[in-house]
Amino acid sequence: MAGNKMDNIVNLCKRRGIIFPSSEIYGGIGSTWDYGPIGVHLKNNVKAAWWKSVVQERDDVVGLDAAILMHPDTWKASGHIASFSDPMVDCKRCKRRFRADHLVESMKKEEDAVERTPEEMSNMERALESVMCPECGGELTSIRQFNLMFKTYMGPVEESAAIVYLRPETAQGIFVNFKNVQTSTRKKLPFGIAQIGKSFRNEITPGNFIFRTREFEQMEIEYFTRPEEAEEWHKKWLQDRYDWYISLGINPEKLRLRPHGEDELAHYACACSDIEYEFPIGWSELEGVANRTDYDLKQHMEVSGKDLSYFDETTGERLVPYVVEPSGGVDRALLAFLSDAYEEISGGRGEAGAESEVVLRLHPRLAPIKTALLPLAKKGGLPEIAKDLQNQLRKCFMTDYDERGSIGRRYRRQDEIGTPWCITVDFQSVEDQAVTIRDRDTMEQARVSLDKVKSFIKDKLEEC
Ligand code: ATP
Repeated sequence: MAGNKMDNIVNLCKRRGIIFPSSEIYGGIGSTWDYGPIGVHLKNNVKAAWWKSVVQERDDVVGLDAAILMHPDTWKASGHIASFSDPMVDCKRCKRRFRADHLVESMKKEEDAVERTPEEMSNMERALESVMCPECGGELTSIRQFNLMFKTYMGPVEESAAIVYLRPETAQGIFVNFKNVQTSTRKKLPFGIAQIGKSFRNEITPGNFIFRTREFEQMEIEYFTRPEEAEEWHKKWLQDRYDWYISLGINPEKLRLRPHGEDELAHYACACSDIEYEFPIGWSELEGVANRTDYDLKQHMEVSGKDLSYFDETTGERLVPYVVEPSGGVDRALLAFLSDAYEEISGGRGEAGAESEVVLRLHPRLAPIKTALLPLAKKGGLPEIAKDLQNQLRKCFMTDYDERGSIGRRYRRQDEIGTPWCITVDFQSVEDQAVTIRDRDTMEQARVSLDKVKSFIKDKLEEC
């Protein structure tokens, strides 16, 4: 059933121009996806909602847009060259490849009844001794560490001196710019730098649609604090980020916080909690909120030889700030919003015959199209009224225009892509200069005069 929901979402996305498999005419390329004409709005709206919440509405966070290609020493300093790797095993029989930590995780779930000591669990090799290939039951190879960074060459010569990496996280672009941002904005601690951008990881086992891909977008904040305040800010950010998902309509029963155990922490973190969502594939990480300590700034100071410390004018003290990092994926958040919004109504809602119907109950701020103009007939001046109105509205938000097929079918097409308000122009509109606005969720209809439509929808968008 869960698998079906994911398949249904993937199919809807393809059919309605939300997300397409990348390079499909060539048979696709391992787990990369393209956002279509409707999906691109959804993605932009997710990013805009995040930016509004963490930059526009706050005094203490500023934005940045750093380059993807960075000096290779960045990754030496950050520890990614030495330790950004996942443990990998292969099946000797069917040659399939797995992440060893995922196999151990699923074994833990299956064997919940079997008591294991923490020492046993932390020793992945030993934990895996009894595990066979989950696909064919074959024997597995021993674990090899596999570095997840994509390598490429800068310039025309393919030699080791020209190696650069596609960034595996946006965070480092922020750390190396800490001084530039602090001195140019004259921000005092605590303050944060926010960034949205592409990251690349050569994942061993990508999959589950856009949940785990090799090219994805991240929304990250590095929030710099005095060391003794980091723990408190960690809690605050966790709550803030949790609230953000709820404010955009995520069902609270499908969202939870999960603190990491000691053995799970990344090399740079002293504490981390995940915000998890119950995806169709089960509970999984949506966003991580970590206390990265002063690890990154200190590492960059050491490797670059530059001073990245902060001078506190009030205390006269020089210090290296701690960093709290809320780090989420745009694509993963979008998948959560899609799964949460997706509703299949068997038998339909009565407007388009008895077929089953899909309604994407996206939060109006995320909805790709805010309103669709639907003239009831292609004559009698109705298309002209609808187009005039569309020209007014499109200056404020995304609109659509559809005059094809029965009105029931047109409503259905808009419901499938989550359009919150459909506007029908009927013969009476010519007389009374008013239109009918249908609400996607309640299906209530309101008669609104043409000159009030813009403020009607703007008010609704502001209210939510
Ligand atoms: P995982 O354990 O799932 O591999 P991670 O803990 O390595 O993830 P982080 O490094 O904390 O992930 O990345 C922060 C966020 O970036 C994640 O919460 C997720 O939303 C997103 N993200 C990370 N890797 C991917 C990926 N391969 N595809 C899509 N989104 C990703």
